Amino acid sequence: MSYKFTGNFTQQESLPEESIEAAIAVMRHGRLHRYNLADGEQGETALLEQEFAAYTGAKYCVAVASGGYALASALRASGAQAGDAVLTNAFTLAPVPGAIANAGCTPIFVEVTHNLVMDLADLKVKIASSRARYLMLSHMRGHLVDMDALMAICDGAGVVVIEDCAHTMGAFWDGVASGRHGVAGCYSTQTFKHLNSGEGGLLITDDAELAARAIMLSGSYMLFERNGAGPEKEVFDQIKLETPNCSGRMDNLRAAILRPQLRALDAQCAAWNERYKRVESGLQNATGIKVIERPEKEAYVMSSFQFLCPELSDAQMIDVQKRTGNRGVELKWFGADSPVGFTSRHDSWTYAEAQNLPQTDRVLAGLFDMRLPLTFTLEDCDMLAAIIREEVGAVYQAG
Ligand SMILES: *Cc1c(COP(=O)(O)O)cnc(C)c1O
Repeated sequence: MSYKFTGNFTQQESLPEESIEAAIAVMRHGRLHRYNLADGEQGETALLEQEFAAYTGAKYCVAVASGGYALASALRASGAQAGDAVLTNAFTLAPVPGAIANAGCTPIFVEVTHNLVMDLADLKVKIASSRARYLMLSHMRGHLVDMDALMAICDGAGVVVIEDCAHTMGAFWDGVASGRHGVAGCYSTQTFKHLNSGEGGLLITDDAELAARAIMLSGSYMLFERNGAGPEKEVFDQIKLETPNCSGRMDNLRAAILRPQLRALDAQCAAWNERYKRVESGLQNATGIKVIERPEKEAYVMSSFQFLCPELSDAQMIDVQKRTGNRGVELKWFGADSPVGFTSRHDSWTYAEAQNLPQTDRVLAGLFDMRLPLTFTLEDCDMLAAIIREEVGAVYQAG
């Protein structure tokens, strides 16, 4: 009799007591809107912004309604206009091309490598062919591309880089925090990311005017002087009337929940990585499985696990998914013809012009993805790896 995994892949940890108490305090005083402040009060949202800016080393942080909203705002605040072409990863999640569309721009997809990062050779080709001046770089599933090489290409070509750090909050490339290479870094605090406020987003930048525009975009009426984490008033003088109010602020309740979590972030990241490494060692050298190589300069945070079965056919991939599923292991496959759950891919986004991405299609056809919530123990991780190993092995051997 084969054993079965009984953990729940979508169950996150409960929030820390400190978050719960902070939320109750905000509900008791009733000032949930970030610009609704008592005399001398800074407000939870501004405090979160100050603390997250300090955590990443950025000058400014703007807290907003979602990660996708932060991405669209960063694009608009850095000068992208409706109709502009914006380069992005062909392998990413729907909110990324969605943010490009939200800014009225058109996505140009760049191929992914078998290490699940942007293909820099294809990036050069696409910069030349599209003449795009913006790149929305998605660190999809926490895999960081060689950021020094990428920035050299983009700086050389005059391409503005905006980083999607939904999966790299807490990660570094060669000692530099993810989100600090481009002109802006955008994070999500949606339930399945590294901080959990249900919904939420954070945008960081060193550029005062970009920050001011993002604050106006998020909706500050003319209350920006009370923002508490933004640039000086003079910066707003130039842009306050020409920047539309597209309301998408974060509120004090969410910020209150997030601040204690931010203090615990590094410990949480270490706990995720322990789980990742446990699954990784369980799948190392397994028949039919290729684990993703991680470069030495990359300090990752992995709240999910990806692996490739490069030699399996579509039918075999579906078989593996079924067999592991029967044993309680939820693998997501990005190769399916129609999107299921969050697994949509470039050809599902039909609002964008259809693009030919043969290398990405090949990689995705052999890619499995699995969540690793912190509610799983290290022993759970051993069992997950063992089940995957057995089932991929069985399918592989059966031919
Ligand atoms: C979750 C996610 C986002 C942003 O998501 P929101 O739900 O808008 O907060 C952006 N990029 C990636 C890769 C994501 O996984």
